[in-house]
Amino acid sequence: MASRQPALFLDRDGVINVDYGYVHSSENFHFVEGIFDVVHTACTQGYKIVVVTNQAGIGRGLYSEENFLTLTEWMCRRFTEEKAQIDRVYFSPYHPTEGLGEYRQDHASRKPRPGMLLQAKLELSIDMAGSILIGDNLSDMKAGIAAGVGTNLLLSDKSEANAVMEKCLRIESLYEALPFLIT
Ligand SMILES: [Mg+2]
Repeated sequence: MASRQPALFLDRDGVINVDYGYVHSSENFHFVEGIFDVVHTACTQGYKIVVVTNQAGIGRGLYSEENFLTLTEWMCRRFTEEKAQIDRVYFSPYHPTEGLGEYRQDHASRKPRPGMLLQAKLELSIDMAGSILIGDNLSDMKAGIAAGVGTNLLLSDKSEANAVMEKCLRIESLYEALPFLIT
């Protein structure tokens, strides 16, 4: 059996791309400074790169799953061009109160619940304790901690965010994540 590999888990909106709210086209998809360096470094250090993103915009009917998947393909191509390979993208299209039809669910995949991370653990044989998660919301941190991710980094320029949670560290730029990847 292959040995377990750590992952770099990335939230999408606010970590990979600037969060303008319900981004669903490449024209509106602006990469956050440092993201290509972080992912490239993680790849060379032996991390699997796994995106875990809530996409309630699908459930709310603002854009379709197909829109999302097309944008995801484009995003992954851009990473490949930058010598940074995304291994897997998980998304949760549900919303517990605003979702339409079958999308109205308090689904286990939606952060702060750890469903997407646990699915990745199972499917990709991830060493969770050795893994790193970067998010820009407390719901990301909660999901990471609940899933047993060893290092949870909150990308935030608000110092109030410092004391909010144990087992979670605040970084002000993606470059501050690099030392965690190089051990
Ligand atoms: Mg986010």
